[in-house]
Amino acid sequence: MDFSWNQEQKRLFSEVESFARAELSRDLVEADREGSFNRGGWEAMGRFGLPGLPVPREYGGLGCDPLTTVGCLERLGYACADNGLLFSLHAHLWTVVVPLLTLGTREQKEKWLPRLCRGRGIGGNAMTEPNAGSDAFALQTTAQRQGDGYLLNGHKSFVSNAPVADVLTVYATLDARLGPAGITVFLVETGTAGVSVRPINKMGLRTSPTGEVSFADCWVPADARLGDEGAGAFVFTRSMTWERGCILASAVGAMQRVLEMSVKYARQRRQYGQAIGKYQQIASRLVAMKERLEVARLLLYRTAWLLSEKRPAYLEAALTKKYISEAWVATCEDAIQVHGGLGYRVETGLDRELRDALGSRIYSGTNEIQCNLIASLLGL
Ligand SMILES: Cc1cc2nc3c(=O)[nH]c(=O)nc-3n(C[C@H](O)[C@H](O)[C@H](O)COP(=O)(O)OP(=O)(O)OC[C@H]3O[C@@H](n4cnc5c(N)ncnc54)[C@H](O)[C@@H]3O)c2cc1C
Repeated sequence: MDFSWNQEQKRLFSEVESFARAELSRDLVEADREGSFNRGGWEAMGRFGLPGLPVPREYGGLGCDPLTTVGCLERLGYACADNGLLFSLHAHLWTVVVPLLTLGTREQKEKWLPRLCRGRGIGGNAMTEPNAGSDAFALQTTAQRQGDGYLLNGHKSFVSNAPVADVLTVYATLDARLGPAGITVFLVETGTAGVSVRPINKMGLRTSPTGEVSFADCWVPADARLGDEGAGAFVFTRSMTWERGCILASAVGAMQRVLEMSVKYARQRRQYGQAIGKYQQIASRLVAMKERLEVARLLLYRTAWLLSEKRPAYLEAALTKKYISEAWVATCEDAIQVHGGLGYRVETGLDRELRDALGSRIYSGTNEIQCNLIASLLGL
C-alpha cells in the first residue's frame, strides 16, 4: 500500500492551492450575509479547468483520475474558505458533469462537456420535491411523450445552483405506477420555455445559489434524455456513488484549515499565565480534530481509489459521506469552543464554517438514510 502522491500530482495540488489563494479570496462575511455567488471566481476556476477535473482532455477537462480529482478538491477546500462556491462546484461536478461523462451519448458529451468544463456553463440537479425528499423515487414530476420529445410538468423544491445554472439533470416519471422503473432523467436547459426558477434562502452555504424549479408544459427533445427511458434509478445510483464518495473532498481541506487556525490560536492565546493549548481540555479538542481529519482523509482516498480502479464503492461512498459530514460539523464546533467569545463573533468566520458544514449532514441523502443503507448492506 503506497500512500504517496507522485511528482505530477504534487505539482498540480500546489498549483490548485496557489490559484485558490490568488483568485478566489474575497470578503466572505459580506458575501455570506448577502448570499452572493462569486461568478468571477467560477470563471477563473473554468480557465483553470476545475469544473472539468475528471473529464478527459478531448472534452475540455483536466483528465484527472478520481483520486487525483479529490486531491485537487481537498487542496481547494484548504486554500479557499468560500465553502459555498466550492459546494456549487461539487454539485456541478457530481450531479451533471460525471453523469454526462459516464452515461451521456457522444453527441450529449460534445454539446455540453466543453462549456461545462471551462466555466462557460453551470450544472445543477433537480430531484427533490415537496413530497419526495429522502423517499426520492416517490417523485411526482411527470414526463409525457409528445412528438419527438417529452413534456415535463412538476415542481422541484431544492435545486443547488438553479438560479445560476444553464442546464439541469431533471428526474421525472413516465408512469408513476411503475415506481422507480418509470423514472427517467433529462438534461434541461434552464432557458427552455416552461422552466421557472425561484431563488430560496438558506442558513449556510449562502454563497451557493439555490432555488425551486417549476416545469409547466416544458417540452424537451428526445435527445435531451440521459440514459434510457426508465433508467433514472440506475443513473441516480451510479451518480450517488461518485457524489457521496467525493462531495466532501473540499470539506477535508476545510477541516485542515480550521484545525491549523485553532492550533495557532491555542498557542497564542494566554489565560492564567500560559497558552490555552497547554490546558488538557483544549488540547484534547485539537487532538480530536486531528484524529477526525486523518480518518476522514483515509475514507475519502480509499473511496476515490476504488472509483479510480473502477471497483464497486457503494458502501464506502455512504460511509465516507456520513463520516466526513459528522466530522466536519464536530470540528467546527470544537474550533468555536477553542476560540471562546472570538469564535462566536461573525468576523472570525467560524459561525459560517459551522453553518456551511451542517448542510452536509442533509444533502446527498441525509445521514439517517446513509445509516439505513449501511445497515442494509450489513445484512440488517
Ligand atoms: C445544502 C443542500 C443542498 C441540496 N441540494 C440539492 C440539489 O441540488 N438537488 C436536489 O434534488 N436536492 C437537494 N437537496 C435536498 C436534499 O437532497 C434533501 O433535503 C434530502 O434528501 C432530505 O429530504 P427532505 O429535506 O425532504 O427531508 P425528509 O426526507 O422529509 O427527512 C426529514 C427527516 O426525517 C429523516 N428520515 C426520512 N426518512 C427516513 C428513514 N427512512 N429513516 C430514518 N430517517 C428518515 C431524515 O433523515 C430527516 O432527518 C439539498 C439539500 C441541502 C440541505
